[in-house]
Amino acid sequence: MYGGNVDDITYHIENKGARSFTSINTDGKIEITLNNLTVRTLEHELMHGFFVDYTDLNKYWIEEGFCEYVAYILYPDNKLVEGISKMSVDDSYEDGDFKRYLQSKNYDDNDIVRLYFDYVVNRLYQGKDVSDYPKLKEKVATNFGPNEQSKYYGLELSYTEAMSFTAYLIDLNGLDGLFDFMSSEKSYEEFYGKSYYILEKEWKNSISEN
Ligand SMILES: [Zn+2]
Repeated sequence: MYGGNVDDITYHIENKGARSFTSINTDGKIEITLNNLTVRTLEHELMHGFFVDYTDLNKYWIEEGFCEYVAYILYPDNKLVEGISKMSVDDSYEDGDFKRYLQSKNYDDNDIVRLYFDYVVNRLYQGKDVSDYPKLKEKVATNFGPNEQSKYYGLELSYTEAMSFTAYLIDLNGLDGLFDFMSSEKSYEEFYGKSYYILEKEWKNSISEN
């Protein structure tokens, strides 16, 4: 598993940049630069440490998706959970779209944060107004040049799409399965028995309103 030997990782955290990012210096030391000290940003950047060894850029979008998954879905802050809970019963919030979306799904209250982000992504695909969701515009490919962006799977995804798609892969065979896939040299076909594009299609189907 990535970062399995965490004793080898030294985190150096600095709050100086306009952007938050994680990098590895030549000594193999992980440096985290934070632009703000929110729990969410810290969770996201700390999770990058799990992926120091990966080499397959066709899986890079899952790294970002997983960092977002931890920060927004697995360990969301209370304020986010409270806000989503309120919206889930609000008939006026986005014309009741979120409430209706939830009603179309089998869910319990523990799932609403996850479903909220699936809803947001689905809203994008429905051509609805998503101007309130900046991370639907921010692409995971920010570290890549234009040539690379078209070369690897998933780099056209935004952070929120990558998170929702990663959550779908975790549904398929758990967190351990996701780590197994990331730490293996296996392609999508070899591990999931399906191509990236089929998985993407199935994920999009899974988040559509029933
Ligand atoms: Zn990141």
